[in-house]
Amino acid sequence: MLISGGTVVDAAGERACDLRVGADGRVEDTAIGLVPRPGEPVHDATGKLVVPGGVDVHTHLNLPLGAVRVSDSFATGTRAAALGGTTTIIDYVTVQRGEDPMETVGLWQSWARDSAIDWGLHLTFTEPASESTLAAATAGGITSFKLYLAYPASLQVDDGTALRLMRAARRHEMLVNLHCENGDAIEELRREAVAAGRTAVAEHARTRPAALEAEAVSRAAVLAEITGAGIYIVHVSSADALAAVRAARQRGVDITAETCPHYLYLDASRLEGEDAADFVCTPPLRDSWHAEELWRGLADGSIQTVATDHCPFWRADRRAGMAHPHGDAADFTDIPGGLPGIETRLALLFEGVRAGRITVADWVRLCAEAPSRTFGLWPEKGSLQIGADADVVVWDPSRRQPLGASYLDMAVDHSPYEEMVVTGWPELVLSRGRVVARDGRFTGEQGWGRYRARRPRTYLGPGE
Ligand code: MN
Repeated sequence: MLISGGTVVDAAGERACDLRVGADGRVEDTAIGLVPRPGEPVHDATGKLVVPGGVDVHTHLNLPLGAVRVSDSFATGTRAAALGGTTTIIDYVTVQRGEDPMETVGLWQSWARDSAIDWGLHLTFTEPASESTLAAATAGGITSFKLYLAYPASLQVDDGTALRLMRAARRHEMLVNLHCENGDAIEELRREAVAAGRTAVAEHARTRPAALEAEAVSRAAVLAEITGAGIYIVHVSSADALAAVRAARQRGVDITAETCPHYLYLDASRLEGEDAADFVCTPPLRDSWHAEELWRGLADGSIQTVATDHCPFWRADRRAGMAHPHGDAADFTDIPGGLPGIETRLALLFEGVRAGRITVADWVRLCAEAPSRTFGLWPEKGSLQIGADADVVVWDPSRRQPLGASYLDMAVDHSPYEEMVVTGWPELVLSRGRVVARDGRFTGEQGWGRYRARRPRTYLGPGE
């Protein structure tokens, strides 16, 4: 296929040129004036942007949570992702305490085989992991794992375990992803709130203050400094946490950071209304001035990546709660947390381009290039250089798209952006050269997606 007349934007810059997709599903050529071959389909991209398919490195598909489950499967979630211009995801395998991590990986692989786009996996450790587990993970192309510094009852690791796993990450050339909130202090604040009868949804944000997010980022950064591990802070939600990231990087810590569109567009006032339960996520939505600082962080390079933390639940499950599937959620602590977003990330960030907050080049870097580089998928993903996978999005910068749930494809019955209409949406999406979405219609196939083994992280100099 020849994509002609568009403006190609990738790490190599922004230039008016044509792009040829080879029969092998890779980018064959990018140049001015490519001549169609006999029988070659031509897509006229005049006035459109031609960009690498989005790489979403933070998703939760099919994840069980207490008595409920994330509403999107790998089949439905990746289909929605493709429609919105994302062609690669990395999903978190969540290993519960007592489980064999590689067995849990096998379970995730059995689910993920339904994917319509390419996929990779991160691990999540909730207790110490053995050398053989880490060796098996990296040998299988899982070169990052997450640690939670929150949720003491189920997911949290203590600082000693975190330090030990950071040393191991360095030995095994892995990247350590961290959910940064001070779980023990938050648990106490939640107990206090419930005991005092403060059980409304808005307490979710009040009991998880930004200061406790920043504290956990700082603590993680100190452990990274001691161990020499590379760390990646998932879903930075506040100015406080961003300041901690910047401070750590300034003194030489190997630290990168991610934020999510919902922290850029939504604020804590959403937790006051009738639909409050639909806006519970962790870290919580903040006062709106935090978003201004996050946008600045995206523009100045302090935050490298935008991912979704896609974690949707049916409204009925949100109302019922995790522990009480047949009743009403007892209080704010029982609402399953997480927002849909896998379909809308590129469009929401493109609004930032339109508003002059970031450039088109920033948009491509944040949504595709940086996540690919950070997680060992470069240059096959997030790039349009010759030989890269032909995961290509022809982006129509003037196409209007409402973000209400009924206009979107994700398996969820509410949208955090119900009244919003964006300008800019894919008109054509290719996954390894195959058209998987055209003019808002899915044309791909369940199971087309392939597992992508990821490269280990490169560390310079000896570890401890
Ligand atoms: Mn998450």
